[in-house]
Amino acid sequence: MTGSTRYPHVFAPLDLGFTRLKNRILMGSMHTGLEEAADGFPRMAEYFAERARGGVGMIITGGIAPNTEAGSGGKLSTPAEAEQHKLITAAVHAADPEVKICMQILHTGALAGTAACVAPSAVKSRIGRFTPNALDEDGIEKQLADFANCAALARAAGYDGVEIIGSAGYLLSTFLVEKTNLRTDQWGGSWENRMRFPVEVVRRVRAAVGEDFILIFRIAAMDMLDGGLAWDEVVSLGQAVEAAGANIISTHFCWHEAPVPTIATMVPRAAFTQVTGQLRKVLTVPVITSNRINMPAVAEAVLARGDADLVSMARPMLADPELVNKALQGREDEINTCIACNQACLDHTFGGRQQVSCLVNPRACNETLLSYPALGAGQPAKRIAVVGAGPAGLAFATVAAQRGHAVTLFDAAAEIGGQFNLARRIPGKEEFNETLRYYRRMIDLHGIALRLNTRADAGVLQAEGFDEVVVATGITPRQPDIAGINHPKVMPYIDAILGRKPVGRRVAILGAGGIGFDVAELVSHQGVSAALDVEVFAREWGIDFKNHPRGGVTGVLPQVAKSDRQVFLMQRKADALGKSLGRTTGWSHRMTLNRRGVVMVAGVDYLKIDDAGLHTLVNGEPRLFEVDSVIVCAGQTPLRALYDELQAAGIKAHLVGGAFEAAELDAKRAIDQACRLAAVV
Ligand code: FAD
Ligand code: NAP
Ligand code: SF4
Repeated sequence: MTGSTRYPHVFAPLDLGFTRLKNRILMGSMHTGLEEAADGFPRMAEYFAERARGGVGMIITGGIAPNTEAGSGGKLSTPAEAEQHKLITAAVHAADPEVKICMQILHTGALAGTAACVAPSAVKSRIGRFTPNALDEDGIEKQLADFANCAALARAAGYDGVEIIGSAGYLLSTFLVEKTNLRTDQWGGSWENRMRFPVEVVRRVRAAVGEDFILIFRIAAMDMLDGGLAWDEVVSLGQAVEAAGANIISTHFCWHEAPVPTIATMVPRAAFTQVTGQLRKVLTVPVITSNRINMPAVAEAVLARGDADLVSMARPMLADPELVNKALQGREDEINTCIACNQACLDHTFGGRQQVSCLVNPRACNETLLSYPALGAGQPAKRIAVVGAGPAGLAFATVAAQRGHAVTLFDAAAEIGGQFNLARRIPGKEEFNETLRYYRRMIDLHGIALRLNTRADAGVLQAEGFDEVVVATGITPRQPDIAGINHPKVMPYIDAILGRKPVGRRVAILGAGGIGFDVAELVSHQGVSAALDVEVFAREWGIDFKNHPRGGVTGVLPQVAKSDRQVFLMQRKADALGKSLGRTTGWSHRMTLNRRGVVMVAGVDYLKIDDAGLHTLVNGEPRLFEVDSVIVCAGQTPLRALYDELQAAGIKAHLVGGAFEAAELDAKRAIDQACRLAAVV
């Protein structure tokens, strides 16, 4: 079956009157850090052109500020700046003249990292650096004029439209909400006054760009703020911006400061589209939905049940620029799926200076710097052995075989995946299964010879005469030197995750890195994973999708089942636990475990484990934890004996992933390192 028959709603064109979108999938806006990079424009041109070639119907750029007080990313307020943008629009239209590209106009308001930041009132955001300067009447007029100027310049630069972001805690949305808008003039107070500024922005922009230009308005359909927008306000704002000239409305969920996860991997796929569906019923223009829609079948289901006219996929386009074409050609099993980890995208954006990329696709945003060229004339294919089919070995084998090398992949285990076979068993990390599905398909597609249940040693590898060996043997868990560490109640995390040993009612987890937190999640979890059930997710995070109280959350208390187990999560450091977790997701893991009653203990000296339990000093005071099980999550050391053997035997070998360096290793680093090696081997 072809993609257009399997996904009829996805591949139905959308007629906007003056223009047409060739399908219903758009690449949502993401700030990548290229906007302000010195070599950003040529890199963005290729980054977007690659997605255009990949089949997407419409692209929205990362946010561009209309003036200096609006934020520190890219800016468009002068004709000279518009000239630079022409590189992007020309590249996209050359890649596929049918693909539309719109520029997002982003005014971050109180979240701009500058002392000159502006807002309706001088109310500092919980996550902002500065208290904003309250706009006076002239200031408001200046902002309106700057929006209109920016949009007109976007049109001059060759864009097909603009998106105005009216959500997330940025300037427009701070006019809407009472807690950030304390004004008593015509721009504050009553609801009509509070929505005046966003509606006026749309009106001015429409007047500046003319009728035959796409104007998308992004609305917070559920802002997740206690005291946020009521449903009738969301509806009246949608209808007002429609009347003011928006020809597409895009729904957004959550302000950045709201304590509810909306895009992390623990969020069920398409959890929020039902809210878009409710809004769509009362609007006349096409409506876009988003959040955790990462595969074509999910997009098709959302469109088929009438939740939206268009589906925005942002991070999935980092993970696989060819996603739409693969769906169209019936090759969806080849899609490198976004696992919603945020590790190389949003954690980089919100972490400050690091440029965005993607854990499963290190080429994302590096299209001009990292490529995987097929072997050319005079470049004979090598016979390469890859030992270890964890993320590093799989990534290397895929890229090297795709380039034309003859690759044999060994693993001692009965299945591919390495530690991802542990990760995927953690409730909330089910998406990791998709990465393994992708690599299974790549092994078939690129003719990689897979030898499972085979522990490779230097003798075997030498006998088979490989030209080069890539050692991706991973790690071995660290066993700390504690008296009683061999007591029957002690187990390494691998045994606990695989269920090789029963875990008791009272549990101590030694080590509170990523794996300690994951093990705490696993042993304190009961029932269905919230990531697989929207109702469970809504209950756990205190969201009411159906009745939609203010913000979707006002007065709705989270109902997290307390764990039947008594769990103690411990570390030696005196710091708060979880500091090493992802910037955009760590808080939600801490919150979940706290609600379940997991006790976090810092500053622990482990003295002894015996029948009575775990004997410690906590901040110097003796304390016995009377536990039945002790699960060790104390980091890892590299497993590289094979590499040393190969070196001794004079065989050319490379180290990647955990075998190269176990400290602070994650799959992002393992895959990145492996792909970069495979690109040049
Ligand atoms: P591994 O995944 O350890 O793979 C090594 C492979 O080599 C294994 O399959 C092993 O069987 C094989 N092998 C070893 N010796 C031989 C031999 N002589 N012959 C044949 N085969 C051999 N990282 C993240 O980035 N994000 C996460 O959310 C995340 N969550 C995690 C959750 C858990 C519970 C765990 C355990 C890990 C998690 N990680 C996460 C870490 C991530 O899985 C590792 O960083 C990554 O797997 C390392 O990849 P690797 O290929 O170097 O090694
Ligand atoms: P880790 O993050 O390095 O944490 C190791 C933990 O063990 C620390 O809490 C450390 O804290 C403790 N420890 C270290 N040496 C010890 C010793 N000798 N005795 C007792 N405790 C010791 O490693 P990890 O948790 O094993 O995770 C491995 C990698 O997988 C990490 O780098 C992480 O990035 C990745 N991962 C990521 C995620 C994610 O969600 N992003 C999830 C899982 C894993 P103290 O020294 O203070 O005791
Ligand atoms: Fe998706 Fe993770 Fe890649 Fe971000 S880094 S695009 S969340 S897979």
